[in-house]
Amino acid sequence: MAKKEDQFKSVISHAKEYGYIFQSSEIYDGLSAVYDYAQNGVELKNNIRNYWWKAMVQLHDNIVGIDAAILMHPTTWKASGHVDAFNDPLIDNKDSKKRYRADVLVEDYAAKIEGKIEKEVKKAEKRFGENFDKEQFLATNGRVKQHQEKIDTILKRLGRSLEKEDLVDVKALIEELGIACPESGSKNWTEVKQFNLMFGTKLGASADSAMDLYLRPETAQGIFVNFLNVQKTSRLKIPFGIAQTGKAFRNEIVARQFIFRMREFEQMEMQFFVRPNTQKEWYEKWKETRLKWHLSLGMGEDNYRFHDHEKLAHYADAAADIEFKFPFGFKELEGIHSRTDFDLSQHEQFSGKKLQYFDPELKESYVPYVVETSIGLDRMFLAVFSNSLQTEILENGSSRTVLKLPAVLAPTKAAILPLVKKDGLPELAKQIEAELKWDFKIAYDEKDAVGRRYRRQDAAGTPFCITVDHQSLEDQTVTLRHRDSMEQERVAIGTLASIIKEAVDVRSWLKKME
Ligand code: ATP
Repeated sequence: MAKKEDQFKSVISHAKEYGYIFQSSEIYDGLSAVYDYAQNGVELKNNIRNYWWKAMVQLHDNIVGIDAAILMHPTTWKASGHVDAFNDPLIDNKDSKKRYRADVLVEDYAAKIEGKIEKEVKKAEKRFGENFDKEQFLATNGRVKQHQEKIDTILKRLGRSLEKEDLVDVKALIEELGIACPESGSKNWTEVKQFNLMFGTKLGASADSAMDLYLRPETAQGIFVNFLNVQKTSRLKIPFGIAQTGKAFRNEIVARQFIFRMREFEQMEMQFFVRPNTQKEWYEKWKETRLKWHLSLGMGEDNYRFHDHEKLAHYADAAADIEFKFPFGFKELEGIHSRTDFDLSQHEQFSGKKLQYFDPELKESYVPYVVETSIGLDRMFLAVFSNSLQTEILENGSSRTVLKLPAVLAPTKAAILPLVKKDGLPELAKQIEAELKWDFKIAYDEKDAVGRRYRRQDAAGTPFCITVDHQSLEDQTVTLRHRDSMEQERVAIGTLASIIKEAVDVRSWLKKME
């Protein structure tokens, strides 16, 4: 198997070669950690957003969507705590002059120990064969337990120090663990400092009257400040949710992992407003529901896990990440946070306006509690894309590159290929395209031998190829080729739409959540 770094490099180059993602402003040598979605990328991104929106908004009669502005009144960010506390701890290496997030250095160290555990598991799996019981092994093997205890101790201490803002101890931890700069191997570190991640900008034309603003670092606050507007105009009763998708901006200290950590990215967030003291129940419910949404895409149960937070953000009484196995290991894909009544209470205090709900059953007013689900659209894109990219060795010994995107998300659903460029085949192929394109994104390709065209569509992630040949003119049938199995079947042209619909329909995929 290819090394992890090679695998990740091939994901990045494939994303460029097949029109999914380009570096922003590439002709000027690019802008660090900013990316553009290309012709196929935008379709995949839209399909992911739509898959989320349908599951969260359309299928819940107590969740509605909004689209708040990126620019907000600056007091928003004082109330939310972002001005004072939206910091990451940074550390510089004095020799390499490279800058790192101190918490990430420690977490990567812990991940390496976890790699050792994985190795032990693989070895044991080989040794015990079918009788291997992974859970029992993890709970009883001495070496594994030692590794796990070490990880727990390190992460607990990191969590505690960050919570207390004890940056001296974070540096001490890095030194005690002997963590070296990944670039230079040097252990010559500066102190750990806090760095605010918000991008500032100005509103207004003249320098004197201009107002200092921030580009929003999360979409959630646009929902909180609109809480009462939405509640009153929708007449929704608690519990209910408000969802939105949109851009967020963070001046990330280190952004070296392609679209995993960007400075401009998109979030898909839902804030669920509940009665005080019911938040724990809803938190568990949303953890479960969100995991089901991920699993419905069929990308492998083993690729997901929950990670409960040791360090809670200033607003949370419980928080967990859904982590995904990216090419560089398990990392956060989505966060589920029980945010208490912190945000609404803060906005009440800073705005002087009441943000309360009158509960007709309890006959009392209160500030609702909030459970949030927050997923990065770009991270989800990376999860789907990297998991789908595979190299297969075929029976004849040749290899093929195939992008096995879940069909519901694939940018192009089918490609229509006339076998030859004459004898009326292109005309019939064009007719089929003209019909299908009302319902599906369709590609038409008549260049090169059909085998090469199949390979091209495999690599671009198109679930179906429809080949029009001479027989098609006689009996109105075509060859339908399936991307993943490479199986081919003869089907009537009239049945194509329903076959494709069955395979790509959001309904049949989201039904798997039930
Ligand atoms: P991390 O610990 O990776 O910095 P976070 O815990 O700060 O992430 P949240 O504030 O919980 O992230 O944001 C919710 C989601 O937004 C994350 O789960 C992630 O998918 C996405 N996200 C956050 N920051 C970025 C970024 N810089 N680039 C892309 N996606 C991001």
